[in-house]
Amino acid sequence: MTGKVWLVGAGPGDAGLITVKGKAVLETADVVVHDRLVGDSIRALIPTQARCVDVGKEAGHHPVPQADIQRILIKEARRGQRVVRLKGGDPFLFGRGAEELEALKAEGIPCEVVPGVTSAVAVPAYAGIPVTHRDYASSVHIITAHVREGGKLNINFKALAQLEGTFVFLMGLIALPRLCRELVAGGMSPDTPAAVIERGTTARQRRVNGTLATLAEKVKEQQVAPPAIIVVGQVAEPEPMWNWAESLPLFGKRVLVTRAQDKAGELADRLRALGAEVLVFPCIVTQPLEPVLPPLSRYNWVVFTSPNGVDCFFAVLRKQRVDIRTLGSAKLAAVGTSTCAALKSRGLCVDVVPEVYDGVHLAEAMLARMNRGDSVLIPRAKEGAPGLVEKLTEKGMTVDELPVYRTVYTRGDWQPADIDLALFTSASTVRGFAGACPGAKVRAICIGKQTAAAAESLGWEVKVAQEATLAALVKATEEEGKK
Ligand code: SAH
Repeated sequence: MTGKVWLVGAGPGDAGLITVKGKAVLETADVVVHDRLVGDSIRALIPTQARCVDVGKEAGHHPVPQADIQRILIKEARRGQRVVRLKGGDPFLFGRGAEELEALKAEGIPCEVVPGVTSAVAVPAYAGIPVTHRDYASSVHIITAHVREGGKLNINFKALAQLEGTFVFLMGLIALPRLCRELVAGGMSPDTPAAVIERGTTARQRRVNGTLATLAEKVKEQQVAPPAIIVVGQVAEPEPMWNWAESLPLFGKRVLVTRAQDKAGELADRLRALGAEVLVFPCIVTQPLEPVLPPLSRYNWVVFTSPNGVDCFFAVLRKQRVDIRTLGSAKLAAVGTSTCAALKSRGLCVDVVPEVYDGVHLAEAMLARMNRGDSVLIPRAKEGAPGLVEKLTEKGMTVDELPVYRTVYTRGDWQPADIDLALFTSASTVRGFAGACPGAKVRAICIGKQTAAAAESLGWEVKVAQEATLAALVKATEEEGKK
């Protein structure tokens, strides 16, 4: 059976700027054929089971020619695959989307277009430039300044110079000196404000300001590189009232989140809200296990050391048809607030939570309320740290560990680069990252001491959160980001 191709706009770079529809299609893709403009943070949204084909284009040369790209799309669809053709910005705005659509239609392949947020509007917006404004510009013109073979620029500058609006030039960096000259020659004032924005909506966003007379020189001086957008018109005059993104506390920081994909959302959202470019790069996945349950009524205490432990323990109960009431009057202990919340959502009140959220402090807090010989069940990861068990057995308690899940390291098929800060929420994510990116050195922000110890042993620069909570981890990131 023939598959289908979706031409999807990925937006200009910020992973939050892909559309809801685009993201939904991406999540069910078998094959993703993407451009170079599709940056790492969008790349991180591609599901691990999807096959990625990079047909990226660099200015000046085209690694995969257009005809071959179309052939790949057709071939994969014929094999019955769900193919997502992921393009920077919007597929129909200087994206050659129409050619691909025509080629697919000609072959009778089912197709859908998912428009995207174009860089022509979003990049200026993130740099504090509204492309239209009641007082300054009542039209906006989006123009390609791509230089064709023979050095030809297909633009009627005289006609342009008559329009009193905002001009947005794409693919124009090489032609910038000529663009500015020709606009002035066409009749525009050399004092007309103009700006270039490099790698807009990402952590590497940079805005260079000038006028038609000065911009080209400044851009050369500051060595601006593609992708970049040129904005010409009154709205390109720097205006502090329009600046919003660049003043966010984590603006300009590329932050790596290494939690498992299904757990990374909240942390990533909090960091994005502070202006960070977040790359979700899951280094671990948790695999539920199915241990044989001992008779639960025999335990005085049941201890949980992670929300995962809670989730997987209850999954085992359900599967083995064991009623929660068999826990009877056992006391419950939890290592920290998230674990407590996981128990609370199941209608259970926790008896003991330590002040410091780690295994040793948990044991101490429990011991204050225990009797010698109490029996304890700890449903947790197969390779859990030994501190908690040692402390309890030392004091004469009987401890049974119940492995309800295990951590598996995922080896990504790509490696994120140019990271400012990397966040780790467990020692296993540190080990997972070191495995996926051998030899990488990062500035690590760690949730607690054990995680920090794992990061320090790799020679990384480490900062530890004040306490083992997501809020404290985000705060530590914000502090470190200011440095
Ligand atoms: N279809 C895309 C444009 C493709 S043409 C869209 O709708 O955005 C490629 C050009 O887009 C680049 O040369 C550059 O001018 C612009 N561009 C795309 N992403 C950009 C970004 N993040 N920052 C600056 N310019 C960008």
